[in-house]
Amino acid sequence: MHEVSIMTEALRMAVDAAKSAGAERVVKLRLRIGSLSGVVPDAMQFAFDVVCHDTMAEGATLEIESVQAACWCATCAAEFECADFFNECPRCHNFSGELRRGRELDIASVETS
Ligand SMILES: [Zn+2]
Repeated sequence: MHEVSIMTEALRMAVDAAKSAGAERVVKLRLRIGSLSGVVPDAMQFAFDVVCHDTMAEGATLEIESVQAACWCATCAAEFECADFFNECPRCHNFSGELRRGRELDIASVETS
């Protein structure tokens, strides 16, 4: 389950941020996850509970901000929501491979106390 290794890395960054801010605990971690990032939000929640055990983030809350993937259509000069990397524009039916959003896998914020 690669969510565990991703979450281990995210937690390490959150703990580093908390330590450098002089905090004692991580109370909330907010992640931004694109719909094409390849990770499953439910699995991330499970991984979070596992990796936080016995760390300064034990008992912290995980918040996941989902980002719906969007492609850019150059013909219409507009974005449209998509479910894959190559998509047909719903307006002009040209194909677009220019993904504007959806691959995010970032820490949005870390709350400490
Ligand atoms: Zn179009």
